[in-house]
Amino acid sequence: MIKSERILLRNTLGGKLEVFIPLNPNEVTMYTCGPTVYARAHIGNMRAYIFADILRRTLEYAGYKVKQVMNITDVGHLTSDADEGEDKLQKSAKEQRTTAWEISKKYTELFLKDISNLNIQRPSILCKATDHIQEQIELVKILEQKGFTYITSDGVYYDTSKFPKYGELAKLNIDGLKAGYRIDMGEKRNKTDFALWKFSKPNEKRDMEWNSPWGRGFPGWHIECSAMSMKYLGETFDVHTGGIDHIPVHHTNEIAQSEAATGKKFVNYWLHSNFLVISKNEKMSKSLGNIVDLDTLINEGYDPLAYRYLCLNTHYRKQLIYGKSFLDSASNSYNLLKDKIKELDKSAKQVENLEKLGDKFKIYLKNFKSAVFNDLNTPRGIAVMWGVLKDKELTSEEKYYLICDFDKIFALNLSKIRYENNIPQDIKELALRREKFRKNKQWVEADKLREEIISKGYSIKDTSNGYVIEKI
Ligand code: AMP
Ligand code: ZN
Repeated sequence: MIKSERILLRNTLGGKLEVFIPLNPNEVTMYTCGPTVYARAHIGNMRAYIFADILRRTLEYAGYKVKQVMNITDVGHLTSDADEGEDKLQKSAKEQRTTAWEISKKYTELFLKDISNLNIQRPSILCKATDHIQEQIELVKILEQKGFTYITSDGVYYDTSKFPKYGELAKLNIDGLKAGYRIDMGEKRNKTDFALWKFSKPNEKRDMEWNSPWGRGFPGWHIECSAMSMKYLGETFDVHTGGIDHIPVHHTNEIAQSEAATGKKFVNYWLHSNFLVISKNEKMSKSLGNIVDLDTLINEGYDPLAYRYLCLNTHYRKQLIYGKSFLDSASNSYNLLKDKIKELDKSAKQVENLEKLGDKFKIYLKNFKSAVFNDLNTPRGIAVMWGVLKDKELTSEEKYYLICDFDKIFALNLSKIRYENNIPQDIKELALRREKFRKNKQWVEADKLREEIISKGYSIKDTSNGYVIEKI
């Protein structure tokens, strides 16, 4: 059994701070709701994935192995969360005069590029809704057999009145919803009912549609996450993440479907990140036309990791108010941080034996852990790091060791800085490109670049703290 440390997490289900206890002490099972690939993800979306990455890295730092599954929504997400409107991918395909398959491919690739630029670890399993149609049909069949569904002229629906715990996650006031209900429900029996399977319209030509026992069509948005999470992680798993907008509909419906089908608890810990906003309560969103994507920041000369640094400075459950002046100041602090680490390099040697390190060192390590293990308090973790750099009683070795250690969670490439001193720019760039290939598991391309680096007189070694370049 792995010896892992105690972590407190705020569970949306119940709203309390809870000690994290995984089902299997050797491996945490974690599901992250991924992007709907109909458009370029904006930096607000990226905040949700940075948060999930911080959570995963914190669990790993505490000693757990983590199996993380993330979905790619490439079908079934309609322009309105209430099962109305067009399929987002189909609409985007029409606008760009291409197919939904091409749209999915294009924006999935851009998403993967963005997460790589932000040092977000690739999930252990990345799965597409369209690759799991059969699993979704099977789940709907089970719900049908158990009497949770009904059929209307446009699809198969989940009858939420049959699931007594419906809305527990979001503390939804179902009676209030009923009383306040004014708009046309169509053929739905209850306002909160949702589509499990939608029929293709007779006159509609869809790029993505499949046969099912109920008729030709496509899955509803929520069923994919229940089907894929349970396929890869089991009927009950440890952690489920997403943005706070997922609480009242998407995650509420995931729980209803999964628990009705299995009769078991679906997820033990639900964690949700708050929004990136432009000003108080104005969410960055495509529909408001106020979005910024990562390439825009890169083209303006920002390091994507300066954006990551900005995110780390606000707790994930608080709104992050975004503006250029905030990004500028994060960028300046991040550059200053890197300069301070470069200064350390002149005297620092590798720490060989942790036992020999001083008490002050141990206090900083403890303070850092108590920050990040307390519901991922990264702003406090960052403050501890600055405290380390300013502390005159710590040796350079100790400072450097601590920062590399903290960077296992921050992932700001801080551990790479010392080794890159005095290395020519072209070699650094080759090493960076090689690292990207390695992250994408493109080993042949990565090996070619290693050869090129060696042919130019440098060696590159991979360590637990990142890669190290040295003159041969
Ligand atoms: P989508 O691709 O629309 O399914 O959204 C992807 C993720 O981004 C979800 O987890 C959303 O909760 C999250 N999200 C959307 N807008 C924002 C925002 N402005 N700030 C933070 N997260 C967001
Ligand atoms: Zn989902």
